[in-house]
Amino acid sequence: MRTDMLIDGEWTTGSGTTFPTLNPATGEVIAEVPEATETDVDTAVRAAAAAFTSPAWGGLLPAARARLLLRVADLLEEHADEMARLETLDQGQPLQVSAGFSVPNAVEHFRYYAGWVTKITGVTAPLSIPDVDYRSVREPLGVCGLITPWNFPLMILVWKLAPALATGNTVVIKPAEQTPLSALRLAELIEEAGVPAGVVNVVTGGPETGRALVRHPLVKKISFTGSTGTGREIGAECGRTLKKVSLELGGKAPSVIAADADIDAAVQGNLLGGLLNSGQVCAAYTRFYVDAGRHDEFAEKLAGAAGSLRLGDGLHPETHLGPLVSAEQVAQTTRYVGLGRREGAELLTGGNRPDGELASGFFFEPTVFAGVRQDMRIAREEIFGPVLAVLPYEDPEELAGLANDSAYGLAAAIWSRDIGTANRLAREIKAGTVWINMMQGLDAAAAWGGMKSSGLGREMGWAAIEAYTEIKSIWTSHN
Ligand code: ADP
Repeated sequence: MRTDMLIDGEWTTGSGTTFPTLNPATGEVIAEVPEATETDVDTAVRAAAAAFTSPAWGGLLPAARARLLLRVADLLEEHADEMARLETLDQGQPLQVSAGFSVPNAVEHFRYYAGWVTKITGVTAPLSIPDVDYRSVREPLGVCGLITPWNFPLMILVWKLAPALATGNTVVIKPAEQTPLSALRLAELIEEAGVPAGVVNVVTGGPETGRALVRHPLVKKISFTGSTGTGREIGAECGRTLKKVSLELGGKAPSVIAADADIDAAVQGNLLGGLLNSGQVCAAYTRFYVDAGRHDEFAEKLAGAAGSLRLGDGLHPETHLGPLVSAEQVAQTTRYVGLGRREGAELLTGGNRPDGELASGFFFEPTVFAGVRQDMRIAREEIFGPVLAVLPYEDPEELAGLANDSAYGLAAAIWSRDIGTANRLAREIKAGTVWINMMQGLDAAAAWGGMKSSGLGREMGWAAIEAYTEIKSIWTSHN
């Protein structure tokens, strides 16, 4: 297992101290990892800046760059089992999630962006000026700082890394301090694939390491996924130094279950949509607006299904729900469950940490509240734990207003058999993504990101190519 950092093609413990990364299923220390200092960050950024203009990377022809990304995808796929187990060990997500979703999605992202490398075109335009030709080209930005969260450490990193490399940038990665191991292993595979030294650097550490990266004058862009508060701080700092910035932040996704919805399909989709990765998903369905006439039926079925999920160590193949990532997340979830109770919501299932053999890990029971009101904090604030809130609504005309009555706008779901109602709501809801009659889907080809306090910019699809390039206009005189 790699526990040192990759800076300029060298594996190093850096110039600072170390910090532990834990197995959330047991609370035990897996490994000690370096805490990168400002000096380490500076060395990594300078290495990335030098690699950007080096013949080995900057001079690489597009077809060769595409082949490198395909090679990374192949290596990741060859090591999929190992990578999934590492992710589960460090993050807690069940193997069903890491092996079934996170790693394959990361592989597909590398392949998808390998495909784009040879298709990043500009335009020619007919200017209303005599005797000139005009064309635009897309150029890479330079050194990009990629700061990632702990909920899907490998997959979310690759959402940034694959397009950043496809467009010819170099990167310094700062993985979340809770879950650094899969990023380090990926960096090793990238090295093995033949990506030149300095193109991909990884510095491990906490917020101070992240801050040093955001402040660094040679960094041209920051791509961040994480909490809204941290996103605001990063956005402000990028404003000061005029770096480009993409922010994928928190969410409080509404899921609307119309009177005509297929309740059993909605229960199943919302169960998975709400509890995937124990609710530690920025697009988790967390507030369910159910027609008042069907509220009790939906809530009881949802609670029954949630209560029957198997909680356990993610490494056990039968586990449905793993632990939360840390003691902090357990404390946060516990606090919100207490708030829900005090505010008068009806607790149908869960609400506690399990005891017995799971007591030493960071586990929390899947929890369903019914009869939740719009003004309750469990209906308004991001919990990032396995807590689902069911709210009755009386009038379908108020649905868009209820869904939009939130600081966030990352994602939403609509369950209805009436295609007209579903599509009208999809247009009215302010969210970066709307899923109709399905749990969350993600695909490298579908743009991803948030409105309002859920962020700035889009990842995936062509949008990510734009996010990692700048347009240059070139005019040529005929004379
Ligand atoms: P959470 O609060 O959910 O643990 P954060 O959004 O604070 O998550 O952290 C997400 C990522 O951002 C992590 O890699 C973390 O180390 C990093 N980070 C936290 N604070 C800052 C900051 N002020 N500047 C740069 N990176 C930061």
